[in-house]
Amino acid sequence: MAIEIARGSAPLSAGLSVAGSRAFVHSIGHGVNEYWMSLALAQADLAANAGEVPVGCVIVDAEGRAVGVAHNARETSADPTAHAEVIAIREAAGKLLGWRLEGATAYVTLEPCAMCAGALVLARVARVVYGCADPKSGAIDTMFGVGRDARLNHRFDVVSGVLADECALRLRRFFGTLRGAKLPTTTE
Ligand code: ZN
Repeated sequence: MAIEIARGSAPLSAGLSVAGSRAFVHSIGHGVNEYWMSLALAQADLAANAGEVPVGCVIVDAEGRAVGVAHNARETSADPTAHAEVIAIREAAGKLLGWRLEGATAYVTLEPCAMCAGALVLARVARVVYGCADPKSGAIDTMFGVGRDARLNHRFDVVSGVLADECALRLRRFFGTLRGAKLPTTTE
């Protein structure tokens, strides 16, 4: 009588999408989305330390490489368009030597505004993963459906709420500090 050996399937995680990259190794036991979002959060912290609204963005290409890493720099650049996503898109396009970021995922701590959501459509990213919603200018889910509207010639998948509390905490802490509260502007 043959003895059946249960073949437990190896635990396959979403990390397979970036298999082969160092990200996969670091993300075991902690989702890939959370891994990249934590890097975007580190960018948000850099922004806060520079007196900028703490929003960070990391763009990961189809092979799982971070090709655009940026934070909001509106004040230091004196540029109303210097949002984290726009800067990261420019960096990624420069690294990939082309404006089409096909297969790429943009991780951003705050729901993108109309400008950034539009730029992500133009860049042809495959997916946008964001942390907390922006009740005043979020253009993907909250106020508009940029990136999801069937009338657009390009749409992307959306994942929301990744490390949302940590993303929102940065913003609350920053604006609390601006209002005069004695709260730290750096994180643990
Ligand atoms: Zn924006």
